Amino acid sequence: MMPVLIVLNAGSSSLKFQVYDTPDGAEPRVAFKGLFEGLGGSAHFIVKDASGNLLDEMTWSSGDRLGHEEALMHLVSWLRQHQEGRRLAAIGHRVVHGGAAFTGPVIVDEDVVQKLETLVPLAPLHQPHNLEPIRIVRRRLPGLPQVACFDTAFHQTQSEIASLFALPREMRERGVRRYGFHGLSYEYISSILKDYDPRLATGRVIAAHLGNGASLCALDKGISIATTMGFSALDGLPMGTRCGAIDAGVVFFMLREMQLSPEAAERILYTKSGLLGVSGLSNDMRVLRANAATDADAKRAIDLFVYRITREIGSLVAALGGLDGLVFTGGIGENDVATRAEVVAGLAWAGLALDEEANRAGGPRISAGSVATAWVIPTNEELVIARQTQSVLGATQARLAS
Ligand code: ADP
Repeated sequence: MMPVLIVLNAGSSSLKFQVYDTPDGAEPRVAFKGLFEGLGGSAHFIVKDASGNLLDEMTWSSGDRLGHEEALMHLVSWLRQHQEGRRLAAIGHRVVHGGAAFTGPVIVDEDVVQKLETLVPLAPLHQPHNLEPIRIVRRRLPGLPQVACFDTAFHQTQSEIASLFALPREMRERGVRRYGFHGLSYEYISSILKDYDPRLATGRVIAAHLGNGASLCALDKGISIATTMGFSALDGLPMGTRCGAIDAGVVFFMLREMQLSPEAAERILYTKSGLLGVSGLSNDMRVLRANAATDADAKRAIDLFVYRITREIGSLVAALGGLDGLVFTGGIGENDVATRAEVVAGLAWAGLALDEEANRAGGPRISAGSVATAWVIPTNEELVIARQTQSVLGATQARLAS
């Protein structure tokens, strides 16, 4: 029987999944992928095969109030009916925050769950949703191994100086430091650089993960040495609905002068800012691009996004001591030709020159010059979770056998 892994990425009202075959000694291979949307309301389930052909779908009425637990059990029973020679071996979870304690993926036990719960205050909008399916599986499928894979872990290689805030020592002791996120995406990019150009794998590369969430990571020989996200997923670049780096004084202004509660201020910074806040129109880059010629606010939002990316790249070039390659990934990085062109145009000083035709074609290489090169590389966070889950399980089985 082929052992399979389910890889889960849980949000507040969604559950994305990929099911991987894990042939002995080989790279995990997608068998099925899909998602539940609208959980808690009118939920919808779709599942496709590895080539993207629709295999099944189902819609529940809002009266059913399908939650994460029912969704997960529906997925497991769907798999049982469609597994033909497969055996569910484990579930791998994306967990946003691993804190200082988790420097790599771990098998989940009660102690791990408790430690991850203590990190909820560090990622209040993401961590609870990531932990919910872990608890559900422990309750409903108690014998099934689970592995937690962290968005923070890849950045644990950063120096102490890169991770420090200039705050009193007591705060650092309470865990107030830069952690960095999007680590599963950057680990994938780091792992694949050699296939695009071996010089990238041994050189100084900035990876730009530009999606609804957005950040940059400086990779020195494939290792993270600096990143734009910090203590929370709010820092760094402006994003779809998040503000990115702002002066901490703005938060005091919101609380004291605008009399906002901490919750109301947090909601503005996480869900009403970024591209949406500046444009007043949308958090979706496609909508902003379609309106930029006639809507000054849509153009302003895009211009600010590009300006901040270019400036932050400058800061990471300094951290790396130079630049050999720039990689675009994420929904915007992989698809938005204009954002890539505008960012590269702002980096002529770093030796980058755009190959316009290659950029329009989507790369992979989109630069013309040879001082520093620019690339489009689709990310694959789920594959990293599958690899990490497979490797942690393999290591555990090997330990038990010896
Ligand atoms: P998430 O961070 O939620 O995973 P994605 O990586 O899917 O987000 O990125 C979503 C962003 O990608 C949106 O701003 C969307 O407009 C943008 N995007 C997706 N496809 C295109 C496209 N063809 N052209 C421009 N932007 C795109």
